[in-house]
Amino acid sequence: MAPHIYTSPLPDNPIVHRSVYTHLFSRTSLYPWSQAAFIDAPTGATLTRAHVRDLSMSFGHGLRTRERAKRGDTILMFSPNSLCWPVVVFGGIAAGLRVTFANNAYTADELAHQYTNSQAYLICTTRSNLNTVQKMLTSKAVGVTSKEEAERRIILLPDDFDWIPGGKKTNSKKHTPGLTRFEDLLGLGKLEREEEFNGEDAEQETAFLCYSSGTTGKPKGVETTHQNLTTVLDMVLAGFPPLSPTDDRVLTVLPLYHIYGLVKLMLFPFFCGVTSVIMSQFDPVKFVQSVQRYKITISLIVPPVLVILARHPCSEQYDTSSLRIMFSGAAPLGGELVKAVKAKLRPTNNPPLHIVQGYGLTETSPTTHLLPLLPGARWGSMTEESKYGSIGFLLPNLEARLVVDDKDGTAKTEEELIDAKEGERGELWVRGRSIMKVRYTQCLPKFVFIFQIRLPAQLQGYLDNPSANTNAFYPYTPSPSSRPLPGTRWFKTGDIGIADKDGFFWIVDRKKELIKYKGFQVPPAELESVLLTHPQVADAAVIGVDSAREGTELPRAYLVPTDQSFLSPEASVALGRKVQEWMKTKVARHKFLRGGVVVVEMIPKSASGKILRRELKEQAKKELAGR
Ligand code: AMP
Repeated sequence: MAPHIYTSPLPDNPIVHRSVYTHLFSRTSLYPWSQAAFIDAPTGATLTRAHVRDLSMSFGHGLRTRERAKRGDTILMFSPNSLCWPVVVFGGIAAGLRVTFANNAYTADELAHQYTNSQAYLICTTRSNLNTVQKMLTSKAVGVTSKEEAERRIILLPDDFDWIPGGKKTNSKKHTPGLTRFEDLLGLGKLEREEEFNGEDAEQETAFLCYSSGTTGKPKGVETTHQNLTTVLDMVLAGFPPLSPTDDRVLTVLPLYHIYGLVKLMLFPFFCGVTSVIMSQFDPVKFVQSVQRYKITISLIVPPVLVILARHPCSEQYDTSSLRIMFSGAAPLGGELVKAVKAKLRPTNNPPLHIVQGYGLTETSPTTHLLPLLPGARWGSMTEESKYGSIGFLLPNLEARLVVDDKDGTAKTEEELIDAKEGERGELWVRGRSIMKVRYTQCLPKFVFIFQIRLPAQLQGYLDNPSANTNAFYPYTPSPSSRPLPGTRWFKTGDIGIADKDGFFWIVDRKKELIKYKGFQVPPAELESVLLTHPQVADAAVIGVDSAREGTELPRAYLVPTDQSFLSPEASVALGRKVQEWMKTKVARHKFLRGGVVVVEMIPKSASGKILRRELKEQAKKELAGR
């Protein structure tokens, strides 16, 4: 059968060949250098576009010279949102480094996995996270033995704004002998034009390493290349409602260590010349206060933020009339929630407030789909209400299909894959140049042979993880009958979707193991491996259960105890509580077992030993019904 391939209603953008740093500044002639690029919400401290350019070139130079970082080295950012972020990220990529980002609530063990796996050396962190970093560096997994060596690897980020040229100075500097300070890297010169990372060979190199568990297993480093990022910025620009550098301001409450915050709240507003107002974390009162104070017009959030705003009295106590678009992502957004938030924030819908959503994954850099504003005429009979719950249409430069059957991975031609019909469910596959690093041609160095020899292309994507890459991509070469997107392969999202006659997509289920708590990834395999280290746990399985009250999934564990005596009703409840508390000392907050812990005789498994998660989910539904 001929494959059913979806394309975007928008025309493709030309592919650009440059580093993402150069691309971010490519529209610069449209905006004044003195314009505010980033504002710290509580204090109003401001980085102009000129500050971002000068400080990032300076920081990049400091990394190269003082810290001796070489092209391709990894630096790790471990910090809550702050004005240092654009300087570190832009400076890192201008210097040709890979930047990896860790959740700032991570424990030392969680951080150690990412630090070693990403091959990071330098780590940028704040005073509040210093203890965790020092514990991580001296842990068995990392093995730094001297205090001096540990200190050499740390760059301490400031709590003040003394480093912003012309900014307000504070006199209360805390001294931290032995550590390199962020400011120490700023006054040493700037990257020269030729030092700056650019050109065609730059585009296939990795700029970011965010961590995602993919369809199964522990968090893996996702290699996001310069070309992935330049492509996605152009794609989102084409699909997002037009932004005005003079009238629009974006509120940044989502963590910048997640690809959603990083690309949509830091890179994208800068690319469009729009000011981004940064909060370190979400708090409902501070959120609406900031909307009022900075006349915020656009806010990118996750559904649990909307759940809180729909209920909290502060939503009616401040003037939020400037807000024109709330853009949700990272988790499903239902129509009922949209109506409830609109009723609370804008009962008469005057001026109009649009609440729309997008979809994507860390692996897709991230956005592949956007729900456009549907004000009427341009979209024929479609209205925003008729598409509530939809993730919208496919963005340009991408192709998608909804695969019902790939013959357990043995379908060798595109024609053998069975696609869903209109309105039928299928696994969403996407391909295009914004999907994580796909092809990487290795060259043997010239000095070994007279001519440079190219080895066959390898599947890349997840850093140093060939088996995860084989599972993530459809391994066979695309058939000539499909529109060729050179150098790209079908990426299997692990999400189940449907598409309607207008080409709008809905995500209706998840095929992969992943649990999402308030937009944060919770990989079941990671929690299961921690649970198995508990002395009273013989076997464990973790699933997600839906909480309508919190508008998110909650991780729930099933445990088999080492001793039969724990199976009695009282003992099993006591063990469940004990393990729930113990997990709080082992993992970051978003991975706490908020969905409960149940002690069972055995975990349902297939003949090959795979946990039957569907069965457990059905069991959980019954257990939780009527509560
Ligand atoms: P992450 O890599 O952390 O961004 O997680 C990606 C996953 O989040 C996707 O595979 C989906 O399961 C889920 N996701 C993201 N956006 C949406 C959405 N709008 N609706 C439903 N699920 C979503």
